[in-house]
Amino acid sequence: MVRRVVEVIKLTKRQEEILQIVKEFGPITGKQIADKLSLTRATLRPDLAILTMVGNLEARPRVGYSYKGIEIDQLTDWFATHLVSAYKAHPIVLNKSTSVYDAIVQIFLHDVGTIYAVDGDGHLEGVISRKDLLRASIGNQSLHGLPVSVIMTRMPNIIMVQPEETLLDAAKKMIDHHIDSLPVVQASQLKEETYKVVGRITKTTISKAFIEIGQHHSTIKGSESHIGR
Ligand code: ADP
Repeated sequence: MVRRVVEVIKLTKRQEEILQIVKEFGPITGKQIADKLSLTRATLRPDLAILTMVGNLEARPRVGYSYKGIEIDQLTDWFATHLVSAYKAHPIVLNKSTSVYDAIVQIFLHDVGTIYAVDGDGHLEGVISRKDLLRASIGNQSLHGLPVSVIMTRMPNIIMVQPEETLLDAAKKMIDHHIDSLPVVQASQLKEETYKVVGRITKTTISKAFIEIGQHHSTIKGSESHIGR
């Protein structure tokens, strides 16, 4: 709790300077930091204590201070090197002839926001989101007799992501196209320009990845993921 409160306090100019020095020269002793700033070790003691408590610095006896925070470029690197394949969640897939009524039931049953519609060979044909279902529901049509193929966003307008793409690619696509999720697809062997749905990536996947980085930030590079499994 103390840590959370301290984290939102803005760092002073001197604390920022200390961080810069430790980033550049760490591990470095308190005395060496003080010398670089032309201050005494005693003057710096409260700042070093705060930076250590907040978690920006790590203090090790006889070694000195090392930087422990995450740099923005490290964060971007992390998203640019972690693949969709490791983070994808299970997709909910229906035949395109399924009724809107049944699609609504599936959305509640599986607690998802988006469902994918496929043809008889299992190839992706459409995306049905909550808004699509709401829009259909406020009309007068019978939801039992209305197939999802009538209301879905269909190929070739579907924005997809492949398992070998990165979380950064996926996040950019969702932001650029103002959508909440992407089907993870693999090209089908049967016919050109057709795809099998093998997963889904949502904005929640990206948020969970942020939490994972926060929890493991001292071992940020090369960490294994468990999201989406
Ligand atoms: P919601 O309807 O819950 O707000 P979205 O913002 O993802 O969900 O969907 C908005 C619209 O974009 C819907 O009409 C939906 O069919 C469409 N859509 C959703 N995902 C995709 C996608 N991956 N590619 C193309 N269109 C999509």
